[in-house]
Amino acid sequence: MRYRSTSMFFAALLTASSVVWAAPLLAQRPPAGGGFRGGTTIQPGEACPAGTTEIRPLTCMAPANEPPSILDYRPQSTLVVPKHTVPSAKYPVIDFHGHPGGNLGSVENIERMGRQLDSLNVRLMIAAENMSGERIARVMQVVNSSPTMKDRVRVLAGINFQNVGPGWAERAVAQLEADVAAGAVGVGEISKGFGLSIRKPDGTRLRIDDPELDPIWEACARLNIPVFIHTADPSEFWQPLDNTNERWLELSLFPNRSYAGEGNPTFEQLVEERDNLFRKHRNTTFVTAHLGWHAHDLGRLAKLFDEAPNVLAEVGAVLYDIGRQPRAARDFFVKYQDRILFGKDSYQPVEYPYYWRVFETNDDYFDYYRDYHAFWKLYGIDLPDDVLKKVYYGNALRILPRVSKAGFPNE
Ligand SMILES: [Zn+2]
Repeated sequence: MRYRSTSMFFAALLTASSVVWAAPLLAQRPPAGGGFRGGTTIQPGEACPAGTTEIRPLTCMAPANEPPSILDYRPQSTLVVPKHTVPSAKYPVIDFHGHPGGNLGSVENIERMGRQLDSLNVRLMIAAENMSGERIARVMQVVNSSPTMKDRVRVLAGINFQNVGPGWAERAVAQLEADVAAGAVGVGEISKGFGLSIRKPDGTRLRIDDPELDPIWEACARLNIPVFIHTADPSEFWQPLDNTNERWLELSLFPNRSYAGEGNPTFEQLVEERDNLFRKHRNTTFVTAHLGWHAHDLGRLAKLFDEAPNVLAEVGAVLYDIGRQPRAARDFFVKYQDRILFGKDSYQPVEYPYYWRVFETNDDYFDYYRDYHAFWKLYGIDLPDDVLKKVYYGNALRILPRVSKAGFPNE
């Protein structure tokens, strides 16, 4: 059969295959309502109305069934790819961001924790629990009473930021010196309340870069101890709780984590004060917790690292951001391999292997451990061995001169 023109060819084609072609053509030029059940046409730049989703360009439709809530929607992945779970880390690990809590309460408890740490290959737990005075003495007594754990736990000292004013710095420095003499190997974890909620006696907010605090940071440099500091929180916590917020579920489960209301310093203010502190005290080593809450913007953390060689960062509780950008994260870890420390934060032995799997494998699309941090899957970043060793223990040993290197590979 011959056609006299192209339009005749298409006319015949349309007639011949009308059943097959009808639906897509309708979709491209939908009448009002899109021609679909419950369909709605939208204009370019508009979002679909609530309860509908875009099924063709500019056409939205509601599902026929009542949708499950985000809590209950748990699709099982059908992806078939190699799977390498990693129950135990490849090299011995220092957990720089430890919160062992009651596990330090007795020799029996600490030894039970030791067996859990053995199965994970965590060699040293740094208890970042702001301990001071009596409490350090009590914990070090427990640690030293255990033949198997005496080299496996160390503590950081806390700083009391109440009543910052005349005389404060002398008292704080004296207490810190006593705490270091009692066994503390660093300072921290300075809590997020510092900057956010702690006030001076006159009622004003204690800024992170307040010059009245300078003597304590100088003392840390003199004592050669790192300062572990948690500043701000995920930037989404300052955003409205609506259906565009990546942390909707967390903020809804824990409403007091939202800083979107009046009266709170902004995320940017806190980060600026923190960075002023880091830049002002270049002889003091600072470790910013949770990758400084820049794990979703590694370029920004790179800029901080470039500006402030005295700053390192710790990976606790931001694995969801590392594992969703495996190529960029791998490049970042390789480039800044001397600046990143392993830390877990909340002590849950079953959660550590998720970190090992992200750092050590090339696996695709696997589950994370906590839905309210992330509704997405993770990918391995397959770090080279020399980078892995630095992140797991090498960098921590370098900044913690009071910690014994026994039990770690010595290359
Ligand atoms: Zn912490």
